[in-house]
Amino acid sequence: MSLSYHYMQLPREVIVGKGTLSRLPEVVSRLGLKGKALVLSDSVCYDVAGKTVMELLAKTGLTVDSFLVKSMTVDDLITVEEQLKRQKPHVLFGVGGGTIIDAAKVSSASQNIPFISVPTTVSHDGIASPLASVKGSEKPYSVLAQAPLAIVADTEIIIKAPWRFVISGCGDVISKFTAVKDWRLAHQEKGEYYGGYAASLALMSAKLVTENAELIVYRQDEGLRVLLEALISCGVAMSIAGSSRPCSGSEHLFSHALDHVNHHHALHGEQCGVGAILTSFLHGSNWQKIKSTLKQLGAPITAKELGVKDVDVVKALQVAAQIRPERYTILHKLNLGYDACETVARATGIID
Ligand code: ZN
Repeated sequence: MSLSYHYMQLPREVIVGKGTLSRLPEVVSRLGLKGKALVLSDSVCYDVAGKTVMELLAKTGLTVDSFLVKSMTVDDLITVEEQLKRQKPHVLFGVGGGTIIDAAKVSSASQNIPFISVPTTVSHDGIASPLASVKGSEKPYSVLAQAPLAIVADTEIIIKAPWRFVISGCGDVISKFTAVKDWRLAHQEKGEYYGGYAASLALMSAKLVTENAELIVYRQDEGLRVLLEALISCGVAMSIAGSSRPCSGSEHLFSHALDHVNHHHALHGEQCGVGAILTSFLHGSNWQKIKSTLKQLGAPITAKELGVKDVDVVKALQVAAQIRPERYTILHKLNLGYDACETVARATGIID
């Protein structure tokens, strides 16, 4: 049965650029935020940005407190939620990388309060999306939580994070080429809902990062902004679709499967990039272009560069469809055995 309406939750304010952190008080004032604010961070991100966020928020008249977490396991999340229940803040600020933003997203949604995303890294599209992943939960992929009320992304802070995170973010965006292909396939063959607008937005982000790869490699503010805007647009695409469909297809399933096969895995976006090479090959599309762009960016394009064994890549490709049997992709359609997966990994040069 299809619903007669479509619900979209979008961020209200997005500020991207150099020194944007100092604009937080304006954002608070425009959004009319009052009462108690809690800043969720980890010790590293607190030093990089959290402390400044606290000082800036204190000037707005908000009562500000902070809470530091280490990781994003089910237990950590319970601790954050207990803290929220105790302190009863009116708004939660997530200051950190993907893990912190995800923790802020899930815990604020469960307590029915808004959250504001202040990313310190750009390793994946979770900084603006309504979806979050929780380590150790029964679902190894992202689930719907809530979209941030605002996103304040300061490129001066983001540039301080290891460059590998930026490249991972690029991989996550480039992987939308195959995510959208899978979504279209599910629409054509399984009658799944397909939103052309959300799909176009995700595709446009992948195209813009591809076209601006050189600018990004130069580590210029302009390149970083292209990536940030692409990641935020991907988040918005998921908000519009009401699911991760426009941004997560067979290449993401491959990445999730690799997390299971090899626990010392690479970054999410790095794995999705390699996944996109493999599944683009299976779709019969231009996998060479994806590979050459990732290479140009300095992203991993082989099992060795990902730091995993050849056999792990083959195994991950083989079992990826089982991660989400209900999410139809090219992998579900082809249902490849081990040998066929090995042939694909070899043909694309991911393994020797
Ligand atoms: Zn992703």
